[in-house]
Amino acid sequence: MSDQRVFVGDLTRKEFRERIEQGVIKAAIVPTAATEQHNEHLEMIHDTLHVTYMAEHAARRLAPQVVVATPISIGVSEHWMAHKGTLTVRQEVFCEYVYDVCHSLQRAGVTNILILNGHGGNVKPIMRRLPEYQEKLGINLRFNSYWDVYDPQLVQAHMAKGRLPGHACEYETSTMLFLAPQRVHTADITDENAAVATREKGEALIEPAVAGVADLLRRMIAGETIDLPPLTFRPDGRINMMTNEPV
Ligand SMILES: [Zn+2]
Repeated sequence: MSDQRVFVGDLTRKEFRERIEQGVIKAAIVPTAATEQHNEHLEMIHDTLHVTYMAEHAARRLAPQVVVATPISIGVSEHWMAHKGTLTVRQEVFCEYVYDVCHSLQRAGVTNILILNGHGGNVKPIMRRLPEYQEKLGINLRFNSYWDVYDPQLVQAHMAKGRLPGHACEYETSTMLFLAPQRVHTADITDENAAVATREKGEALIEPAVAGVADLLRRMIAGETIDLPPLTFRPDGRINMMTNEPV
């Protein structure tokens, strides 16, 4: 059985140092997420749990080349503060914290970093700072949410409402029904978009995300030029989250 440990925190400093010095570690993932209200029926850890799963399993496919930083589990969620229990940090604090984590990895010798996001509210704050951070770090630094990698036809085939990720709706409820069904409080579903969620849809969509993120990392390590803007999926197609234009 090969070593399946991918989290930086699961390695000793000796193991990490030796893997860097021997050129074994070629890339790192910095997961970013949220702890925020997810409607009445989903536990608030949702986005953190999802992005951590994607990061861990994508990294394992490329083990031991890819390590995963400790997930950043509180993001920019000011827009949900009316719902008690949501935790948020200011945009500038969040961006600088993410930068410092990336900087730590760069100082250790990591030359490819994917900030892998699982919460929509983090997209614009980080994307606005990304060119500056790329310049300061001088390495191959990318930002994408794990859903950016989806084939739009796959999304259309499985999402009755055509939206992905949405918020605590069909997609996020379906994937949680597959990953951790005890975290879906089905008796409390009040939203018609969440009511059409199924475990089968979740199962069908988890694997392609893991495969897509692993492929993205492979391409980063290979030094390929990657054209993959931050996306959201709507019934009429993919939208670039920065420009609101169809892709
Ligand atoms: Zn969510």
